[in-house]
Amino acid sequence: MQPAYGGEICFNCGRPWGGGCACQVCGQMWGFPNGVIASSAGKRLVAHLLESMLVLVTCFIGWLIWALFTFANGQTPAKQLMGMRTVNIVTGTRAGWGRMFVREVLAKLLVGFFLGWLIVPYFWLLFDKNKQQLWDKVVDTGVVDDPHGLVGNQPRPTAPYVQQPQQQYQLPPSEQETQWGYPPRGGYGQQGGYGQYGGYGQQGGYGQPQYPPPPPPEPPQR
Ligand SMILES: [Zn+2]
Repeated sequence: MQPAYGGEICFNCGRPWGGGCACQVCGQMWGFPNGVIASSAGKRLVAHLLESMLVLVTCFIGWLIWALFTFANGQTPAKQLMGMRTVNIVTGTRAGWGRMFVREVLAKLLVGFFLGWLIVPYFWLLFDKNKQQLWDKVVDTGVVDDPHGLVGNQPRPTAPYVQQPQQQYQLPPSEQETQWGYPPRGGYGQQGGYGQYGGYGQQGGYGQPQYPPPPPPEPPQR
């Protein structure tokens, strides 16, 4: 699942973010270190051409052996030479070996085999708000310029869609009932309703000793 973007100011350039996983102005990737920007379509095309050349001049087998090493860093041989990286846009990490293998070998073969004759799939990223190719969508990846290796393997800690919601604040059953005033403890205005036990302004309500303890303040998102 991918996060919803938009309605924000870019933390890298200070201009309106737009609706994609990269800033519409500067290309900064959402949830990635400052300066990690989505690779331009032109750069990705050059990388693709370079890749094809490497495959040819190494009779594929050399490229493959090389790639088996670079995959672990979210790179192909051409991406390594060009300082680009495939990233997992959901977790904010490098795409790992398995994800790269699925992307580079399985997904590209499948897309090429079934949709390649349409030509359009190869230009998909030009119209895609997340600048993803179809094989990116299969494995939730994007391609970024990361010549200094800013993207690591540690998932970003604050991604709300990665955390399990509310699990650490489970209430005991009785408290759960009173806090929300569920029947059979009575409806609103009765026991367990608002204004009474467990309701707001009373026991367990705001301003009183609270149970459960309030969640810790969210760390800054970026
Ligand atoms: Zn920006």
